[in-house]
Amino acid sequence: MERIKLHDKFFVPCIKAAEIDKAVEAVANNINNDLKGVDTPIFLSVLNGSFIFTADLMRKLDISSDVVFIKLASYEGTSTTGEVKEIMGLTKSVKGRTVVVVEDIVDTGNTVEELYKILKREGAADIKICTLLLKPDSYKKDIKIDYAALQIPNDFIVGYGLDYDQLGRQYKDIYVLDESQD
Ligand code: 5GP
Ligand code: MG
Repeated sequence: MERIKLHDKFFVPCIKAAEIDKAVEAVANNINNDLKGVDTPIFLSVLNGSFIFTADLMRKLDISSDVVFIKLASYEGTSTTGEVKEIMGLTKSVKGRTVVVVEDIVDTGNTVEELYKILKREGAADIKICTLLLKPDSYKKDIKIDYAALQIPNDFIVGYGLDYDQLGRQYKDIYVLDESQD
């Protein structure tokens, strides 16, 4: 088994690249259908974790769109701090626009809730949430998750853009924290 080590922790393979690709394709098809008639939606990619997902998703879309990046952070090490910090705000007006939030993981939903607030305040006409991964056992908010490519249990994962203290983003597969750390 190809176990990897990042900082002090071991991780084991959990979702293979081919499965990720299929799931991203399915979400892209749904978005292509749903947003066909919408005038140039904005895809709001949440840095850093969703940069690879965003790049793969965009290349499977056949609608014309804008891509905007925003940077928020809530995780320290392998757990959430509960507080969402805005590190880089919106660089483009979303007033009257359809915005698709592109997230890496929806966990507690604090980040999505914060984004929703920002987008409402800035006058977005319609807000859709798209995430690569959803942790349904952790998510307790009322905001609808319109598109979730994959669902996972409450484990800490890395790879495909996701990090453990900045390491591990480059892997094509997704890895999960190994239960036996020895
Ligand atoms: P939430 O605000 O929903 O609790 O957490 C959202 C953010 O925390 C995600 O966008 C992601 O950046 C980070 N996060 C949540 N779960 C994980 C995980 O298992 N691994 C990594 N690397 N980051 C996570
Ligand atoms: Mg994120």
